[in-house]
Amino acid sequence: MELSLNKLKSKEGQFVSIDERTSLDSISFHKDELEVIEDLVVTGGAIFTADEEVINLSLDFETTVIEHCRRCLEPIETKIDRHEEIEFRPDMEYEVKGEGDLSIYRYESGSGMIDLLPYIIRFLKLDLDPYPLCKEDCKGLCPKCGVNLNNQEDHSCEAEEEGEAKDPRMEKLAELL
Ligand SMILES: [Zn+2]
Ligand SMILES: [Zn+2]
Repeated sequence: MELSLNKLKSKEGQFVSIDERTSLDSISFHKDELEVIEDLVVTGGAIFTADEEVINLSLDFETTVIEHCRRCLEPIETKIDRHEEIEFRPDMEYEVKGEGDLSIYRYESGSGMIDLLPYIIRFLKLDLDPYPLCKEDCKGLCPKCGVNLNNQEDHSCEAEEEGEAKDPRMEKLAELL
């Protein structure tokens, strides 16, 4: 995912298209390693402007990662499809800056290329949910035995442990409910 600055500079002022595909094993997100199950596809283009040696990119990223439900731990497929407008400026005072929807980064004017992957991964993470749920009313796991409560509607090992279900009056009540 490298942007050749020499190639861009040789086509100064022209839109140079980008169409790249790479496979990532995983991306780290909030102490988790999320499995990436589809190639990362990056399309769009870049323009180099000689005046201020600014590089403008208009990029679309697509991939699919596996998150896990925070309550029941079941896998959730998360499709990422994101568009970003990015600008690289040489020897800018700040590392990163934003103007509206435009993200601005610094690059070394003497360098021959920019590796786009770390920037793209940073953007991909913006589409991920730090508290993903398989469904809004996910019942999670039984705190006693760890069974997935979404699959067992009348699971009751917690009640039995506490002796409530042994009380005949409670059993009658449970039947009525
Ligand atoms: Zn769940
Ligand atoms: Zn249980």
